[in-house]
Amino acid sequence: MSRPAVVLTGCRVYTSFNPPKTYDAIAWKDGFVVGLGSEEVGALSGDWKVFNMAGKAVIPAMTDHHIHFVEYAVADEYIDLRGVRTKAELLTRVRMSKQGGMVYGAGWDDSIMDSIPSASDLESASGGRPVFLERVCGHLGLASTSALKILQRYDVNPFLVDRDGGGNPTGVVRERAVELLRRHIPKPAPDRLRALILKGQERLFSYGLGGLDIIAMDGEYLKTLTMLKVKKDVRMDIRFFIVPELMESLPALREAGVLAGLKVFVDGSLGGGTAALRQPYSDRPGRGLLRESRSSILKYLEICDSLGLEIAFHAIGDEAVQTVLDSVEDYGGFKGVRIEHASMMDDEMIERAARLGVTLSVQPMFAVSDRWLRERVGERFWMCYRWKSMLEKGCSVVAGSDAPVETPNPFHGLWAAVHGHINPDERVDITQALEMYLPKGATGKELLARGCKASLVALDRDPLTCGPENLKDVRVVMTVKDGEIVYSSS
Ligand SMILES: [Zn+2]
Repeated sequence: MSRPAVVLTGCRVYTSFNPPKTYDAIAWKDGFVVGLGSEEVGALSGDWKVFNMAGKAVIPAMTDHHIHFVEYAVADEYIDLRGVRTKAELLTRVRMSKQGGMVYGAGWDDSIMDSIPSASDLESASGGRPVFLERVCGHLGLASTSALKILQRYDVNPFLVDRDGGGNPTGVVRERAVELLRRHIPKPAPDRLRALILKGQERLFSYGLGGLDIIAMDGEYLKTLTMLKVKKDVRMDIRFFIVPELMESLPALREAGVLAGLKVFVDGSLGGGTAALRQPYSDRPGRGLLRESRSSILKYLEICDSLGLEIAFHAIGDEAVQTVLDSVEDYGGFKGVRIEHASMMDDEMIERAARLGVTLSVQPMFAVSDRWLRERVGERFWMCYRWKSMLEKGCSVVAGSDAPVETPNPFHGLWAAVHGHINPDERVDITQALEMYLPKGATGKELLARGCKASLVALDRDPLTCGPENLKDVRVVMTVKDGEIVYSSS
């Protein structure tokens, strides 16, 4: 298929951000950039589709470095509990749900609710259908009495199922128990699933995304998405980090060219109180939950090293981050290591991450959503979400949304990194923030130079000059992926 030859004139094309390098026109043909600047573009001969962009900014298409893409794409099939403020409202939504089998919802946040329902509250609201509702962080859930019965089929660490003074489960379940209950969520039928994934892709194109690092935790979702990629229905660049349970899909992923590596959970979340801290939480007992030991992390490093894979460790609390860094150091260094979230780090850890070449994969919106952070970690507040320090100390930092936990709109992430961060000391500047959303290995490179793939985004205003507080409102007017216009706002 021959792709259209297109010229954008009258625009400000950023081919790189650090330092910003701009041209007033760009042309592409057969998927690749062939001209930059009006002089060069004007000298091109042949048939061109010309758009006058009336001064708009054009930047390289962005990458979300941590997204649960299919879970995001199917989220509307289930109960959306984001923003719910009362137990009564939550129970009403459960009661109204028409889902057969298990009633599933996600997005509740106890920090904004009056109280949370018990297992029996959920049981009566659903009329006996099992109910499983994930907290917004995905590390904690509420299970009804019959959902708790499902859990009894598994050998679950009793620590992961909360109990009241009388020893009865309250309905709150954590970590591995959440993952086990997820297996029982009814999934969309295959046709519907494929349609939802393609709709999800359209939404992401409309946000200016061209690439995704996907955290895959479900075998069926992984298979369907890979199949759509092989058929070229999914046109975004995708790379998977899979949980160890899905190892058997490695050959298929490798063949499809979409394999990045493994994803391993080393702890939980700060919101759920399961992130592993070196010292106890400031507003509750305990230090959270370290899910992997140094020796098990070493084992994963060995596996990934021998298979030529990257490895992404989910580590939020300082204990978890330190354990990963210690293990990587014990191993003698390993280039393909990422720490997902890397939420709490002291100076020594940041320096060590830089020295070991560990990539830090951060989610800027977390530093806006975690309004309770000061109470939870007390005087360790300064240790959280240290993006500016990470960059200053020479770490490689990439950004993502963790959607459906947060919106995948990267302009919300850019706004958070530059302006919304609850700790102003750790805000970064817009060029640094934009670089975090570039594809792997693109930092400092000219992404839209001649000969590069034409994957770019035209915006209604220039993110470098619109003012930090306005970044959230930047709208995409056109998204181009490998030379094809895949989204247009008009
Ligand atoms: Zn995630």
